[in-house]
This record gives sequence, C-alpha cells and structure tokens, in this order.
Amino acid sequence: MKDYKNAGFATRAIHAGNIRKQHGPLAMPIYQSSTFVFETTQQGGNRFAGEEGGYIYTRLGNPTTSVLEAKLAALEGSQACVAFSSGMGAITSVLWTVCKKGSHIIADITLYGCTFVYLSSGMTKYGVEVSFVDTCDINAVKNALKENTEVVLFESPANPNLKVIDIKALADAAHSHNPNIKVICDNTFATPMLQKPLDLGCDIVVHSATKYLNGHGDVIAGFACGNEDVMTELRMVGLKDMTGAVLGPFDAFLILRGLKTLEIRMQRHCENAMKLAEYLKAHPKVERVHFPGLKSDRFHEVAAKQMNACGYPAFGGMVAFEVKGGRQAGAKLLDNMQMCVIAVSLGDAETLVQHPATMTHSVYDAASLAEAGIAEGLVRVSAGLENIQDIIADFDQSFTKI
Ligand SMILES: *Cc1c(COP(=O)(O)O)cnc(C)c1O
Repeated sequence: MKDYKNAGFATRAIHAGNIRKQHGPLAMPIYQSSTFVFETTQQGGNRFAGEEGGYIYTRLGNPTTSVLEAKLAALEGSQACVAFSSGMGAITSVLWTVCKKGSHIIADITLYGCTFVYLSSGMTKYGVEVSFVDTCDINAVKNALKENTEVVLFESPANPNLKVIDIKALADAAHSHNPNIKVICDNTFATPMLQKPLDLGCDIVVHSATKYLNGHGDVIAGFACGNEDVMTELRMVGLKDMTGAVLGPFDAFLILRGLKTLEIRMQRHCENAMKLAEYLKAHPKVERVHFPGLKSDRFHEVAAKQMNACGYPAFGGMVAFEVKGGRQAGAKLLDNMQMCVIAVSLGDAETLVQHPATMTHSVYDAASLAEAGIAEGLVRVSAGLENIQDIIADFDQSFTKI
C-alpha cells in the first residue's frame, strides 16, 4: 500500500488506507458480514491468539471499517483509530477504558449535552470523580489537577457557544503535572482538516463523525484516534466488552464516500460561516455573535494559532449568536425561517438552526447554562453548503418578522 503521509489533506481523504484486493473496485465494498469463516480450527485459534492477521467477528473488526479507520488515522496523523456507532459510543468507550473507580476527570464546563450528562450523572455513579472547570483558564485547571487525575476532556471550538481552548497550553499544563494524564480533545467542530490536537500535545482525539466527517445527515458514527497501544486497549475493552458500540459496515461505507469531499465541503462551510457571521455582526437585532473567525471575537487569536492545519487559519462552519429579546425572539426567528431548517446536529449540506436552551442543552438548568456561558437567547447555526446569498436572504426575511 502506498504511504500518503506527505500528501495533502484531500489526497489522504481520498486515497489513504484503500485496499483493492479482489476485482479492483474503485470504491471499498461493503463487507456486510457479522462473522468470518476460518479454513481450519487451527486458523481460528491463531486469529484469537493474535498470532495471525485476518478477521474473526465484526465487533472486533471488519474490512470496510478497517479501511475507514486507516483513513481517519491518516487524517488525524495518529498511529491508530477505532470507529464507533456514534460519537457518544466513542466518548463513553474511551472513558470506560482509561478510567477506573477512584479516577478523577477534569472536564470543561461547556460540552455537548449528552457528554455533560454522561460525566455528571453517569461516570459519578461508578465512583469516578468529575470536576467541571473552564479550561480556558489555565490557572483554574492547575488548581483542579489532583494526584488521581487521569483525564482532561474538552471540545474546541466548544458546543454550542464556540468557545476556543488554547489546546497546547492546556495539554502542557496537564502533562507537566503528570505525563500519564490522557488529554482528550473532541475535535468534531474543527475536523482534522482545520485542527490537529495530537500535534498540539493531546493524547486522544474523539469525533462525532455524524457531523462534518460524514457530512450528509444520514449516518450516526464516531471515532477515537491515538497511539497504537491505547487504541488496541480501547478496541479490546471499551468497544468489544464495555459498550459494544460497533459501527456497521454500511455506515462505514457511507462515511468513506463522505470523506472524499471533506476538504471542499469544509472550504465552503468555512466561507459561508464567515460571511454569515459578518452579516449577523452588522445586524441591529443581534446582540452578540460568537465566531472565532471574527477579529473582534475574544478567541480569534488563539483560534488563528491552532485552527490552521490546512495551511491557513480557517474557523469552521458553526456560528452562534444572541438575538435581542432573548429566548422568545430567538424562537420566533427560527420559526420564521423558510429555507434553513430547525434541527439539531451539524455539518450537513443544509443550513441547520437550533436553540440550545430549549433543545440540545435543555438538560442544563438556568444556573448551569449561565455557568457554561450559554445565553437563553443563543441561536446556533450550522452554515450549510447553499449559496451564501440565499442563506443571508432567509435570515433577512426572518429578522423582519421579530
Ligand atoms: C454530536 C456531538 C457528539 C455526539 O455524537 P453522536 O454521533 O451524536 O453520538 C459529541 N460531541 C460533539 C461536539 C457533538 O457535536
């Protein structure tokens, strides 16, 4: 197999990891099989013992999924990757694998809603201690680090308010306390095209591939990337035994298809989000815009420093803003949209709008919302791939109705 290590991002997304063993198909076939046949009992025994390569059972590995995992590792620049049936499957499997009773986790206060609930009421049930800290504040992180801290977990940019964490500063602080701490970055919003957390000092990257990586709104999936030994343990413990959150071969095929256009899709998402953010910033009915691409954004500098894996600073396709008039005005704006659709999820061709306080972050009470920096009137937009003048025209007509 050719090594695409030095190839460009789109080239790696298209070519890395491909295997065309039988019949030479251009697209990787879907190996829709639960189990694999051994020629002899001895061969089965050798595979179970790890003395011989080859597949056993799809929960342990599948040819279609393996190609996808190799491709993701090539994109994140990691030694290995494990695919999961959802982003939550990836996050929970990683933490079930690296934590034990008595472990301490430091997690950012601004997180995807289900990650927050998993940490605050899931892990804590099993004797794992969790501290929620604003990881933008490195001194607060240093004060929270303990002898039993095993994990520092964060998203950047964070869901839903586009907070940006200085990844290198955070990873350095954690590792100088204890080099064995696993610093885990949820890289869903940025994608490996814009941001490479492993190069910035993180140990594990997790993804909801449901979003940009697949990009077509038709699959739920997740990934974890990191060193070979950690990923092997993750596959053999977190995936195989603890969650069983296995990605199906057909879904793996759809993500392989989606990845072929990841670079050009992201370019358009970034371009549209930038223009939309500029439009919103100038709008008299908008209180505040959160988008790290705006020079006036408090995270612009750190975002420009670390969201440039594609060779130039690029800030992603997500924009959040606060409408004047709070919760009600936000809801009214959404309800009057004609083209953009009200939906959670992100990274699809369609522009999606949602209201975190009533939807994705409804599990946060008023105090937690305030602490996490999620205003009640916050609207989150996933800028789609439509022509920007049509996206802006839709916002324009809807703003006249509030
Ligand atoms: C969507 C999302 C998740 C969860 O992923 P699923 O694929 O829905 O399980 C985790 N983190 C972030 C940042 C997300 O946007």
